[in-house]
Amino acid sequence: MANVYYAKDADRKQLEGKTVAIVGYGSQGHAQAQNLRDSGVNVIIGLRRGKSWEQAEKDGFTVYEVQEAVKQADLVNLLMPDETMAKVYQSQVAPNLKSGSALFFSHGFNIHFEQIVPPKDVDVALIAPKGPGHLVRRVYEEGFGVPGLIAVHQDASGKAKEIGLAYAEGIGATRAGVIETTFKEETETDLFGEQAVLCGGVSELVKNGFETLTEAGYQPEIAYFECLHELKLIVDLMYEGGLAGMRYSISDTAEFGDYTSGKRVVGEASREAMKAVLKDIQDGTFANKWIRENDEGKKEFNRIREEEKDHPLEKTGAKLRSTMAWITEDGKAAIKQ
Ligand code: NDP
Ligand code: MG
Ligand code: MG
Repeated sequence: MANVYYAKDADRKQLEGKTVAIVGYGSQGHAQAQNLRDSGVNVIIGLRRGKSWEQAEKDGFTVYEVQEAVKQADLVNLLMPDETMAKVYQSQVAPNLKSGSALFFSHGFNIHFEQIVPPKDVDVALIAPKGPGHLVRRVYEEGFGVPGLIAVHQDASGKAKEIGLAYAEGIGATRAGVIETTFKEETETDLFGEQAVLCGGVSELVKNGFETLTEAGYQPEIAYFECLHELKLIVDLMYEGGLAGMRYSISDTAEFGDYTSGKRVVGEASREAMKAVLKDIQDGTFANKWIRENDEGKKEFNRIREEEKDHPLEKTGAKLRSTMAWITEDGKAAIKQ
């Protein structure tokens, strides 16, 4: 069984009198900074001038250039896009990192693939909330927390894990549970999950289902509802009760089709493909490709992004969603009135 830590395992004193610099004020940055502040931690923000800077000031934080924030900090958490982190680290973080301080991450990519190699005299740890930033903030405000992962890469002070747990408590994660892992495990499973199942796998499943129905002459609107819209309802049931909970709610006909046809669609070939995807993640093939893509200005990435926007599924969906008042925030408010 995995080690799971809760509030009783965290000692707030580990962050007392310390300054935490959150570098980046995007999805995770704004959420973790605000949660820590509400938990009584002294937080400053490190940024470049621009939109995020203005937002962080509006939210009441003191904001500094990255170099200055790092100079002042006992704990620095790098919460900016993984693909820009290494350059910012080399030019602005590393030269100013105090000996004996701690360097934190929410994802292990740059450490695991050695894009960032911190000096030996700092703690290096990871606190990864298992949810998007806006949920990390909302759930904390509701008095609960998003679960998280903790990993220690380098324990210079002998207290890296204790400081990590105090940080996890500050952002609310120990209210839900913090699972112990390694940078390697977090990085590889995170990349695999998003590529094979959550993002890549699901997107292609939805698109292939939509195309199969429309190519057979069915109306795109019906295909959209069947293959994309209803997915949320099914996933909600899975989230609450696992596969069994979902199968309890669907009809027996749907359940029988699930057992007999599911494996025909996602079978041995898919499993082999998943293994190949995992191998590319483990041996660094994917990481190298992504690093090269960024160095070359994300040309391929941007080309595919544009192409995907033009898919008939997306055109059909945009039209349909604009008429579904209950999906948009404005619509929800209008229905309540
Ligand atoms: P975002 O893409 O939201 O980060 C954007 C922020 O980084 C902005 O405030 C931006 O400022 C700032 N930034 C970008 N470039 C620079 C720069 N050169 N100098 C200073 N600031 C800069 O990141 P996420 O919150 O999505 O991800 C942060 C980390 O958390 C990553 O390691 C990610 O893997 C991890 N993570 C993210 C999750 C999520 O929910 N998104 C979930 C779990 C982990 P500006 O406005 O100036 O551009
Ligand atoms: Mg990820
Ligand atoms: Mg149906």
